[in-house]
Amino acid sequence: MKIFCVGRNYVAHAKELGNEVPEEPVIFMKPKSALLQPNTPFYYPEFTNELHYEAELVLRVSKNGKYIQEKHAFRYYNGITLGIDFTARDIQDTLKKKGLPWEKAKSWDNSAAVGKWVEWKPELTGKVPETLFSLSKNKTVVQEGNSQHMIFNFNRIISHISQYFSLNIGDLIFTGTPAGVGECVVGDELEGYLGTDKLLELVIR
Ligand code: MG
Repeated sequence: MKIFCVGRNYVAHAKELGNEVPEEPVIFMKPKSALLQPNTPFYYPEFTNELHYEAELVLRVSKNGKYIQEKHAFRYYNGITLGIDFTARDIQDTLKKKGLPWEKAKSWDNSAAVGKWVEWKPELTGKVPETLFSLSKNKTVVQEGNSQHMIFNFNRIISHISQYFSLNIGDLIFTGTPAGVGECVVGDELEGYLGTDKLLELVIR
């Protein structure tokens, strides 16, 4: 099982971190040990002083494939949820300045939190529907996203990843975060919504 993540997939978010808007998807990975299942405690990691949440739509791969064409990509996932790509922003900033890989900032244990899965019915449409999502911290909305505002849509992401990596059943794809990323501290309560359905609930311990 692999976890793929897309970086800088919303213009406003790329700009808020001072990054260029990419011409092709920025892809990085997290290992299986990064996965945090629902209703599992999350502990503030000891190696960071600036833990950030990044709320993202997450897709669950349902079919093995490689070199998938965009027009067929919708057949390759059957579940969607809200996830948090937890990031040690202080570490990432240091690594970015040195041009070093991001794993220590992004890929540590439990850094990929996912909510409850919602079934996806790909036979309905090949078109990516408008999907609204949000994250609240201590009952205040801090991030709001809309899949239509992605630079690279689900089909493009799946097709692009599959040019480099085999996609396998059970792989997950974090599709990027909209603007509004920010810090969280011990005691903060994070709640993730797909539309009005709360799929993720987590307290930083
Ligand atoms: Mg992210």
